[in-house]
Amino acid sequence: MKLYNTLTRQIEDFKPIEEGKVKIYTCGPTVYHYAHIGNMRNYIGHDILVRTLEYLGYQVTRAMNITDVGHLSGDSDTGEDKMITAMKREHKSAMEIAKFYTEEFFKDYDKLHLKRPDILKPATGEIDMYIKMITKLLEDGYAYQSGGNVYFDVSKVKDYYQLTNHVQDDMVVGARESVEEDSNKRNQADFALWFTSSKFANQELQWDSPWGKGYPGWHIECSGISIKYLGERLDIHGGGVDNIFPHHTNEIAQSESYLGHKWTNYWFHNEHLLDSSGKMSKSKGAILTVSVLEQEGYDPIAFRFMCLNSHYRKQLLFTFDNLNQAEQTLNKLKNKIASIKDSGDLDDGSFNEYNGKFIDAISDDLNTANAISVLYELLKDEQVNGHTKLDLINKFDKVFALDLIKEEKHAENEEEILSLIEKRKEAKQNKDFELADSIRNELLEKGIELIDTREGTTYKIINS
Ligand code: AMP
Ligand code: ZN
Repeated sequence: MKLYNTLTRQIEDFKPIEEGKVKIYTCGPTVYHYAHIGNMRNYIGHDILVRTLEYLGYQVTRAMNITDVGHLSGDSDTGEDKMITAMKREHKSAMEIAKFYTEEFFKDYDKLHLKRPDILKPATGEIDMYIKMITKLLEDGYAYQSGGNVYFDVSKVKDYYQLTNHVQDDMVVGARESVEEDSNKRNQADFALWFTSSKFANQELQWDSPWGKGYPGWHIECSGISIKYLGERLDIHGGGVDNIFPHHTNEIAQSESYLGHKWTNYWFHNEHLLDSSGKMSKSKGAILTVSVLEQEGYDPIAFRFMCLNSHYRKQLLFTFDNLNQAEQTLNKLKNKIASIKDSGDLDDGSFNEYNGKFIDAISDDLNTANAISVLYELLKDEQVNGHTKLDLINKFDKVFALDLIKEEKHAENEEEILSLIEKRKEAKQNKDFELADSIRNELLEKGIELIDTREGTTYKIINS
């Protein structure tokens, strides 16, 4: 497989550390608010990566953190802890906030058919590991104590800016730090490994440490969880492009100083989802989530399809027009597939030809748009019989995860469901709400959930 590596700034042949096995770390969500569809685009990218590697026969083990402490509003130790902001906003405890938004995150995550990571760890559960790492970094002279906090000294590492463009990021540090400069730091780019109460006296979540009661910085979480659960050498580590600096830059500095050797071979970064005002972000007013899309009557999988039609390393503009179009195209595609008759015997030649084309596309730095083109080419090919087509589509859908093949039951019942929806609509118009409700419940018992939108009623199979 060919994969773009941010570290080398080129597309490389992917070679795992251990043959046939791949270890991946995905930076998880900060659970102080709902995850917007931009965050979700990043997890869709990781999902395609995992599914593609599995398609190619690798055994994948993936870990992810839940950031429930330590992520300040500025990425470089500036501002307030995002969890504290949420506590003030919602008058809840940090743990209540984290629990609520973690659950909401996974509701949306599952709606997009995203594979769950094998190892999922809240940052607050791994304090011992951060203390162990920070202790060693202090002993080895990579870290220092100042103003009650512990900082990493970036001047002690040879190539602090290896992941990114040095000159450019000097400017980024300057711009971000100009708001609030931390006078405890020796170098402007130094970052906190451990805060004591000197930062926020009223921080709810604090732990004892050799340097006083306090809490970890954001960056140490991912290094700690990754090293503890995936070992000293990692194949792939990733997040959104905004994680390259300072988060991943800092992760490399502290992890490699702690371990004494190279840590991660491939750095995988997803470009942003934009809205009309620029990068979608949680701090920008109303948050557009997958659940909101669903309430508006969209199928979350249409959003997944929209993302798959563009390359993960290209920015993608979200508009409802684009989503509408994606949904219509996906429906047409599914209807076309539903009309294929399961005829003939499996034709190995055609199967291998199209499977080969599909693999060429996805293993070319995850070119999902080209993989979708292979699917269209297959649908058009009159030389391939129905049975072979359906087998191939089923297989491709292991990566796409778009539910391309409708359940038989679903197709057969479609007419019946639509007529019941019509009957319910009439009942509502006649103010016979009892009948309307009984139709809804009757369908629900059969595993069919009705969704009312401004444009009318649609339905979804919930336990087929
Ligand atoms: P957060 O929950 O803020 O820590 O972000 C979770 C992940 O979403 C991080 O890996 C970010 O890089 C990524 N991310 C944030 N905003 C966007 C966006 N607009 N488009 C794509 N990914 C994003
Ligand atoms: Zn991280």
